[in-house]
Amino acid sequence: MIKNCSDEAMEVADDAYCRICLVFEPDPRDNEALMLLDIAEEVPNDVLVSLGCGCREELSLVHYACALKWFNIKGLKASCEVCGVSPSGISMAHRLKARRFQFRNWLLENDMPERVPELAAANDDMVARIVTFAEWLNN
Ligand SMILES: [Zn+2]
Ligand SMILES: [Zn+2]
Repeated sequence: MIKNCSDEAMEVADDAYCRICLVFEPDPRDNEALMLLDIAEEVPNDVLVSLGCGCREELSLVHYACALKWFNIKGLKASCEVCGVSPSGISMAHRLKARRFQFRNWLLENDMPERVPELAAANDDMVARIVTFAEWLNN
């Protein structure tokens, strides 16, 4: 189980798992998704982090990328389904970034890139990033 050390470091036991994907090891594609979002350097995805809701620590552990997916499905301001508390462990700026990528993908799919000037001007590389990220997000 989880030990809370006095120096605030948290040791996650071998039997800990992500409450969203239900496994300990992150999916390698998750890290690619964080790279597409350009936040892979800012957030840990090789370890479990706390969702930051009111649930006990071992019940609130998630992969950062899994949590982004979860917010995208449940809503940007979704509360924990178990304790009802709004999670503080995942940056709102990152939730918005993921949502923006998905919205831009939707505009591309519906042939309306001109709705967002940046998207209308996006190069092939940016478009590929948006599409790949949205595929991951919707999987
Ligand atoms: Zn996970
Ligand atoms: Zn909770």
